[in-house]
Amino acid sequence: MKDTGFTTRLVHADRILNAPENGAVHQAASKSVLFEYKDAQGIVDVFQGKKAGHVYGRSSTSSAAALQNILNDMEQGVGAITFSTGMAAISSTMLSLFKAGDHIVVSHFLFGNTRSFTETMQALGIDITFVDVTDVQNVIKACQPNTKGVYLETIANPVTQVADLSAIGQYCAERGLLYILDTTMTPPSMFSAKSVGASMTISSLTKYIAGHGNVLGGAVVDLGTFDWSSFDNILALYRECDPSLWGVTQIRKRGLRDMGATLSPEACHDISIGLETLALRTQRTNQNALTIASYLESHDSVAQVYYPGLGDHPQHFIARELFSGYGGILSFDLVDSIDPIAFLNQLQLVICATHLGDTRTLALPVAPTIYFEASPEQRAEMGVNDNMIRMSVGIEDTEDLIADFEQAFAHFC
Ligand SMILES: *Cc1c(COP(=O)(O)O)cnc(C)c1O
Repeated sequence: MKDTGFTTRLVHADRILNAPENGAVHQAASKSVLFEYKDAQGIVDVFQGKKAGHVYGRSSTSSAAALQNILNDMEQGVGAITFSTGMAAISSTMLSLFKAGDHIVVSHFLFGNTRSFTETMQALGIDITFVDVTDVQNVIKACQPNTKGVYLETIANPVTQVADLSAIGQYCAERGLLYILDTTMTPPSMFSAKSVGASMTISSLTKYIAGHGNVLGGAVVDLGTFDWSSFDNILALYRECDPSLWGVTQIRKRGLRDMGATLSPEACHDISIGLETLALRTQRTNQNALTIASYLESHDSVAQVYYPGLGDHPQHFIARELFSGYGGILSFDLVDSIDPIAFLNQLQLVICATHLGDTRTLALPVAPTIYFEASPEQRAEMGVNDNMIRMSVGIEDTEDLIADFEQAFAHFC
C-alpha cells in the first residue's frame, strides 16, 4: 500500500488497516459504550496501558480507532485522535499541551472561533503574541525564552494569506518549538504538513475531509517530527511509553478523556465515507476556484479578488510551491456601487451560507456576519472590507457557476 497513489490508498484504507468483520469494506458504527471483559485481569491490563483495548466509549471505540488509523495513515503520522468538532480538537489539544506561564506565537489571521478561544487561553495564563505569519521574521521577533510553540493556519480565511510555512518550520526545528498547523483549508490531498516540518496538524473534519455538510468532527495528527523528550509539559505519567507517543498520549488522556468531546460512532462512519473522495473533490474545487477567481478578476463590477492562485497574490509563489492547487476559498470586493447583500440575493445556484469545504458553492457577506463582532479598526487590520464577499467553491460544473455570476451581475449593469 505504501507505493500506491493517494486515492487508491484512501479507498482501501478501511479494509486494509482496520480489517472489519465478515469482509465488510466499511468499519461499522459500533455504538456500545461499555466493553465486557470475561477475565477481570483483561480490564486491569487495558487500564494500565499494558494491553490495547476499549473500556469506555468516551475514550475509544473501534469506530473512532478505525477513522484515526485512516487519518494517521493519510499523513504518515505516529498517531491521530478524533474529536466531536474542529473546535473541540483545537481547544482540547491546546489545553492539554500548554499551561499558565507558557508563551506561544499565534497567527494574527485566524478562524474567528479560534481567535475567540485564544482569549480563553489568555485568561488561563497562557501568554500569546499574535503575528503576521506571512513572514518568518515576525515569528522570530516574537519568540521569548518561555516560548513553547507556534500555532497557525496554512491559508487564512477570508483574505487567503498564506503562511511562510517552510521557513517557520525550519525555525521551529532549530528552536525546538512545537509547530502546530491548522490544515483545514489545505487537506492532505493537496498539502503535506510533514514536508514543511510541522509537528502536528489540527483540522476540522467537518469541512473538506467529510465534505458533504452532514457531519461535524475534528482531529489532531502527530506527525512524529517533534522531540517530545524536550517538552517539559508532558506529565510523568505519560512519559512511560516511546517518546514519539508522549504528545498523543497526553492529548488522548487530558484532552479527549478528561474534556470529553468525543466523536460519535455514526459520525466516524460518515466522515470516513466522505473522506474517500477527498482528492477528487479538492481537485475539482481548486480548478473551479481558479476559474472563478480569474473570471471575477477581469470583471468590471469587482474591485479586488483574494485568491492564492492569482499571479498578483502576495504569496502566490509560496502557494505554488507548497500546495497542489490553491484551495477552494476565495474572497472578492465588489465595486462600491453594488451592495453585497443585494448582489448575493441575485445568485440562484450559489448558496448564501456560512460553511466551507462543501460540495456546493457557498457565499457570505463577510463584514456583517463572521466579522460582525470586530470593530471597523479590527476589520481593517485583518484586511476585511465592507463590500467583501467570501466564497467556498464547490464541485458543480464550472460553466454553471460562471453563468450564475453572469446573470447576477447583469442586474447591476
Ligand atoms: C471550521 C473551522 C474550524 C472549526 O471546525 P468545526 O468543525 O466547525 O468546529 C477550525 N479551523 C478552521 C480553519 C475552520 O475553517
